[in-house]
Amino acid sequence: MELPPNLNVYVSAALFVLGAYVFALYAGLLIWTYRDIHARTRDVLAQIMATVLVAVFTLPGLLIYVLIRPRVTLAETYERELAEESIMREMEPKRACPKCQRQVEADFILCPYCHEQLKLRCLSCNRLLDPGWAICPYCGQEAHTDSLEDIPIAPEYQQQ
Ligand SMILES: [Zn+2]
Ligand SMILES: [Zn+2]
Repeated sequence: MELPPNLNVYVSAALFVLGAYVFALYAGLLIWTYRDIHARTRDVLAQIMATVLVAVFTLPGLLIYVLIRPRVTLAETYERELAEESIMREMEPKRACPKCQRQVEADFILCPYCHEQLKLRCLSCNRLLDPGWAICPYCGQEAHTDSLEDIPIAPEYQQQ
């Protein structure tokens, strides 16, 4: 069997394609690792070490990286924190007006529906007090049941 005269060209071309393929694969590994570690940690040293690990050891390095990398991404951590926060918010006991039982916020001083007095404001330190308290637990001032009169009430909430 006679060898083609321009065998060298074919071999060079095949080697070139193979080289380009290996290089693309290598670059892809590096880029993937770089992006992956940036999505998982803000620690610059860990980011550099992960990228160098894969750059030096290529595929085995990548395997080691995947085994030891942080388990969750920063985005997943953030999402979980948001979810936990919203659960905590839902677990907060809903306050109901003692008179009409409709839902009121913790810092309301009047029930907007039935105008029941829910809180008083301390004359001395201005914090909200329970109407049943005899003294202000924050500053020791004796609570005055008439202190509510000092607070301007919007016309739509005033008693008819
Ligand atoms: Zn009410
Ligand atoms: Zn006070």
